[in-house]
Amino acid sequence: MKVEYITSIERVDGLSKEEKKRLKKVTEKFAFRANTYYLSLIDWSDPNDPIRKIIIPSEDELEEEWGSLDPSNEKRYTVAPGVEHKYKDTALVLFNNLCGGYCRFCFRKRLFIKGNKEIIRDPEPALKYIKEHPEIDNVLISGGDPLLLSDRRLEEILAGLRSIDHVKIIRIGTKIPAFNPYRILNDDKLLRLIEQFSFKEKRIYMMVHFCHEKELTPPAIKAIDKLISAGAIVCNQTPLIRGVNDNPEALANLLNKLSFIGATPYYIFQCRPTTGNKVYSVPVEEGLQIFEKAKVSLSGLAKRAKFVMSHMTGKIEILGIDNSFIYMKYHRTPDQKVAEIMKFERNPEGYWLEDFKPVSP
Ligand code: SF4
Repeated sequence: MKVEYITSIERVDGLSKEEKKRLKKVTEKFAFRANTYYLSLIDWSDPNDPIRKIIIPSEDELEEEWGSLDPSNEKRYTVAPGVEHKYKDTALVLFNNLCGGYCRFCFRKRLFIKGNKEIIRDPEPALKYIKEHPEIDNVLISGGDPLLLSDRRLEEILAGLRSIDHVKIIRIGTKIPAFNPYRILNDDKLLRLIEQFSFKEKRIYMMVHFCHEKELTPPAIKAIDKLISAGAIVCNQTPLIRGVNDNPEALANLLNKLSFIGATPYYIFQCRPTTGNKVYSVPVEEGLQIFEKAKVSLSGLAKRAKFVMSHMTGKIEILGIDNSFIYMKYHRTPDQKVAEIMKFERNPEGYWLEDFKPVSP
């Protein structure tokens, strides 16, 4: 299948003239990008179609002033152009500001705004920083989607990282298997690169991003199979999104199917308070209840995911609630403190850590 990228809402055939006119205003503020394959998954007769929610703008994005463009304060951990070093052993490098489509709820939507200079084209400064920090054994290439880089650039980056002995794991954060699996299926060179740089002792992890089981189409499943056959380990992470996977059945179906195809459920993220994202966000307590109910029907393999909040201060696991309190625990922190269970007063309207009042144990 030949897949064409679309950056103008006017070119989306499933929308009426009137809808296009209204949504154009939204795309002037928050960029729109989709492709013919992904749009073909939408059932246009269903206004609540989950794929539609993921990719087609909503006027509600402009409704309420909420959140910020850098909700996890990534700026604070940026140590060189395009390089973030938040956790001791992990570096994050942003090489691209394009994705196979733009998820409407993206927490890095700032990268797609004209004039943003956070990503790097030349990998040398990032490689130099990583080389000078022997404590880094994990490198996450993200962005934007690294699988939209040319094979030549990917090869340059992977070869550069593999030339640094202390880098063991290379993670590639990608939604391409969901957005456009043909990028993988039609490109043997890409699979050869995975084969070449994923070793027995040092693997490449593909951190894929399926949000709903509708994205797990036959070509998407085939693409995952090809990645696994090429030697990659595949893990899935997804935010909990209103109208997409915000009910136990939808979430359970997704996690179950991911476990069947060998894409380990890894993180379920609390949607970060990003500008324009209120419409896509689910309060923390509701999210936890959805996750817990979904887990009831899942095998141990399908419920390996943790429900976390990627907060400026670290990654926080949301553990549980009782009648009066909600409990959380740091899963990772920049200063590697041993985690203690934290107790907060319940707040059904809480979307982020700051919305909860701590209670001393
Ligand atoms: S694939 Fe990831 S980086 Fe790209 S738009 Fe979606 S959430 Fe943002």
